[in-house]
Amino acid sequence: MEKVWLSSPHMGEMERKFVAEAFDTNWVSPVGPHIGAFEKELAEYAGIGHCAALSSGTAAIHLALILLGIKGGDEVVCSSFTFSGSCNPIAYVGATPVFVDSEEVTWNMDPVLLEECIKDRLSKTGKKPSAIILVHLYGMPADVEAIMKTARAHSIPVIEDAAEALGSTYGGKALGTFGDLGVYSFNGNKIITTSGGGALISENAEWIAKARFLATQARDPAPHYQHSEIGYNYRLSNICAGIGRGQLMVLDERVHQRRRNFDAYLDGLSDLKGVSFPAEPDSAYANRWLTTILIDPEKAGTNRVEVAAALEKENIESRPLWKPMHLQPVFQSAPAYSRGVSERLFETGLCLPSGSNLPEGDRDRVIRLVRDCWK
Ligand SMILES: *Cc1c(COP(=O)(O)O)cnc(C)c1O
Repeated sequence: MEKVWLSSPHMGEMERKFVAEAFDTNWVSPVGPHIGAFEKELAEYAGIGHCAALSSGTAAIHLALILLGIKGGDEVVCSSFTFSGSCNPIAYVGATPVFVDSEEVTWNMDPVLLEECIKDRLSKTGKKPSAIILVHLYGMPADVEAIMKTARAHSIPVIEDAAEALGSTYGGKALGTFGDLGVYSFNGNKIITTSGGGALISENAEWIAKARFLATQARDPAPHYQHSEIGYNYRLSNICAGIGRGQLMVLDERVHQRRRNFDAYLDGLSDLKGVSFPAEPDSAYANRWLTTILIDPEKAGTNRVEVAAALEKENIESRPLWKPMHLQPVFQSAPAYSRGVSERLFETGLCLPSGSNLPEGDRDRVIRLVRDCWK
């Protein structure tokens, strides 16, 4: 039986043409016309002033922290319910992550808990956190209004990790554009891909220019190789940028396809006892990158492990929700503010096959197999 993937790359018509153009003109390096064009087109899509194309979303978060001057001894607040790429860069700069749990509606950072966290860090360390990394998980917009209000009230800069949320909006405005800096990822399983890549966006032109400088080994303007700062090899290649340009052209279509998956699963599964889906709040438009369901074992009589096993038997990939960072061995000693929400989400949640290229027949089969677990 052919494998049904959780979320696999889905190329459009133009990617191959842009890549061929890169070959034909010999711009086969981290320099070339596709890079600038991709940055411009992505910035236009998001409705933001400036964009730097980078080798990954993780690299973008790393550079964002450097641009904000985060260093050893600083604390950085981060959503606990996320992928490790969100918070590993906090360790890269020698700072300490402080994790804040989710709220029930969006599964993203709880604004009330954030306020508590900031006050508690102030009283415990005498210093407020130096930055906040706000994640929009699975493409669902966080309560950005409340989070930004709290962040602004305490004058703490916000990095929006919209790695999973390209194409999502809040109040009609693209996610990634609310914070001081925004981050996208074009990893292979994201809503669009460059095979691997990321971007840093901001209204601050200087920051983005500095990000490009740092991403290309921080080379000073001189006739020889001269360096006054530590640099990184974080630039996106011209070939990958070409793929990205093609993918941007089909992004809205990809969002619609992902949302159709969600609607079909909602239709096919929501009557099952103990099953629930995350609902979109009023001002939110979610790209529904992955369709996620919660299975309450008490009510369902089955659980996420059994459902995943039933799918696996038919060569269908599913995945538990992200394991919260405050429960990860590597972040054991990091301060955490939790009410157990993300922990429960992790224990009961499952991501279903959600590719924009998922054949309807396969999706129907997933629905049938999941339903069989309730029989
Ligand atoms: C994928 C992802 C990242 C990291 O992006 P890469 O391009 O894989 O480095 C960061 N945060 C979240 C929430 C992600 O899903």
